[in-house]
Amino acid sequence: MLNKIKAFFFDMDGVLYDSMPNHEYTWIKSFKTVGIDFPSEEAYLNEGRTGFSTIRYAYKKYLGREASIDEQHLVYNRKTALIKDCPKAKILPGMQDLINQLRNSGIDIYVVTGSKQPILIDKLLNDFGVPKSNIVSGNDVKQGKPHPEPYLIALEKSGFKKEECIVVENAPLGVESAKAAGIYSIAVNTGKLNGQVLLDAGADELFESTVELMQVTSDKF
Ligand code: CA
Repeated sequence: MLNKIKAFFFDMDGVLYDSMPNHEYTWIKSFKTVGIDFPSEEAYLNEGRTGFSTIRYAYKKYLGREASIDEQHLVYNRKTALIKDCPKAKILPGMQDLINQLRNSGIDIYVVTGSKQPILIDKLLNDFGVPKSNIVSGNDVKQGKPHPEPYLIALEKSGFKKEECIVVENAPLGVESAKAAGIYSIAVNTGKLNGQVLLDAGADELFESTVELMQVTSDKF
């Protein structure tokens, strides 16, 4: 199976960058301003959704009603402003090495993220050498994760068959999205959830750190 792999699709937050603590903090703080006590764990359970989808989910679950369009923008803009003041998320250990090694073995690298941050395109090029043409962002999809659309778009962009690709995800909804697109999925548990949640979501392999992921995976390719 391994010698026919042509591309790896990496999620961004929590796989390439240690950015989830910033998202956890800014979700909790921006929901607080509208009277929602958003538990820390929810930031991880809902990771991978688009921002607006997370806001609609939280209003329904914690206030028992739909969020108006104005409310969705209010929370979203608040979170975006808070993120700008957060410390810069570090690259997770081993990920640059893994990506370089895969690329040297002739494997194409794609990034598939729900994020819409305007700077992500520059960051991914500078830090990982991934060009804009190999990025699927929140701006490219109608349906975010856990819907398969982000990974189906990545497949289409790559031109490869689903059995020629591997996804790397850290969030249960991301794994669900990849599996719904029919792609082999490696989970790396960089967050606060029990790893079983990722296996239950359908992950084919589970690693407890990006260093373990890098060591085992770079040996295979
Ligand atoms: Ca993620």
